[in-house]
Amino acid sequence: MDGTSKSDSWRADRDHFIHPYTDFTTFAETGSQVMSHGDAMMITDEDGRSYLDGIAGLWCVNLGHGRREIASAMGEQAARLGYFNTFGHSTNTPAALLARKLAERTPGDLNHVFFTTGGSTANDTAVRLAHYYFNRLGKPAKKKILSRHNGYHGSTYFAAALTGIHGIHYGFDRIAEDIVHHLSAADCFRRPDGMDEAQFCDFLVDEARYRIMQLGAENIAAFIAEPVMGAGGVLVAPEGYHRRMADLCRENDILYIADEVVTGFGRLGHWFASEDRFAHVPDILITAKGISSGYCPIGAAIFSDRIHEVISVPQGPGGVLTHGFTYSGHPVSCAAALKSIELYEQEDVFANVLDTGPYLQERLQGLTRHEIVGDVRGEQLMAGVELVANRASKTSFAPELAAAEIVFGRARELGVIVRPVGNTVIMSPPLIISREQVDKLVDALDQAIEDVSGQLL
Ligand code: PLP
Repeated sequence: MDGTSKSDSWRADRDHFIHPYTDFTTFAETGSQVMSHGDAMMITDEDGRSYLDGIAGLWCVNLGHGRREIASAMGEQAARLGYFNTFGHSTNTPAALLARKLAERTPGDLNHVFFTTGGSTANDTAVRLAHYYFNRLGKPAKKKILSRHNGYHGSTYFAAALTGIHGIHYGFDRIAEDIVHHLSAADCFRRPDGMDEAQFCDFLVDEARYRIMQLGAENIAAFIAEPVMGAGGVLVAPEGYHRRMADLCRENDILYIADEVVTGFGRLGHWFASEDRFAHVPDILITAKGISSGYCPIGAAIFSDRIHEVISVPQGPGGVLTHGFTYSGHPVSCAAALKSIELYEQEDVFANVLDTGPYLQERLQGLTRHEIVGDVRGEQLMAGVELVANRASKTSFAPELAAAEIVFGRARELGVIVRPVGNTVIMSPPLIISREQVDKLVDALDQAIEDVSGQLL
């Protein structure tokens, strides 16, 4: 971090704010960059330095920064009704309308919405209610969850247990190891030598089938997967993988949970990627982030009719579904989400993704001219550039070299923000990006890699 600013905010932050995912050594030295305001694709810090936001805040500000319409909708709702709980039989208008809107926009019979505070709590909700569903069906042994290495599902204790990124667990305890089982990542770049993509797909599905046999389908409740892995390095599965995994799940009475926290609301050019891109309808769909374009914390676990029919039957006279968050269906968050959805519809934002997304991917392919670029991958406005110490052997840079972090730092000096994750540089810009801005993003990244390559090799 630059941390050249020494404002009151900078000091307050350094002394008291425990940041998510922070390197405390460098933090103690430099503190934080205090972001001040944003406008469309640009974000500006309190020293007046402006950057092209290549990551939409954190995969979420899909409509861009400074949208007055969303701010007004939130402000008006806060003034009208800032909060009242939605437990039992009380509701509020934005929550009710948003639930209906989501039911309309999600595929198939995903018609029943449980609101949460974000993606982690939505994933926790999905698993807790999946267990409850099988308990109610008289199948209490169905508890295990299949997840995947490199999958990211959040930071609450159970969402972290679902997460398959090794580094995230370092120094922490792992819970539910008897419940959560990780399958191989659908990582085409690091697939076994000699396999083409179709064979790799067979390999992954066979592995899942074998694991189901080993564990016993009667013990497995659900499979959870991101349509395209995000924080795990932007990994696009081989063609047909999700559809085949969905079939396998159905054959074995295993619920398919699609974690669309990143891919939902247009990042791949559709409302949701599961059906429109990957040709299957999950049993539970998870969304957050883009639902409110990042303007307010909100997530949702959306359930099929089939599941709802079971979990909505009371366990006995007066029995209630004992699950919920104070802020489930928060009126201000729901108002932000409703307005965001209205803007997605009115401004034909996803058509822009289908134009600029392929252009971004095509332009990024040019980065393979650098020796340290091992793989360029992604889909639409989700992209990853994996850096390697040796391209022929695909040898990774040692983590302590922080290669992607160095590229991120240089790119920022050049005026664009990307995101370093492991050895991969990730991009997920707001969906309103223009072709000229794609050029600016890729040119700066190209220059940054050029500038630091000597230092890294
Ligand atoms: N699932 C996926 C795919 C994510 O990318 C994230 C966050 O990045 C989460 C879940 C967790 O969401 P949250 O940070 O809102 O709890």
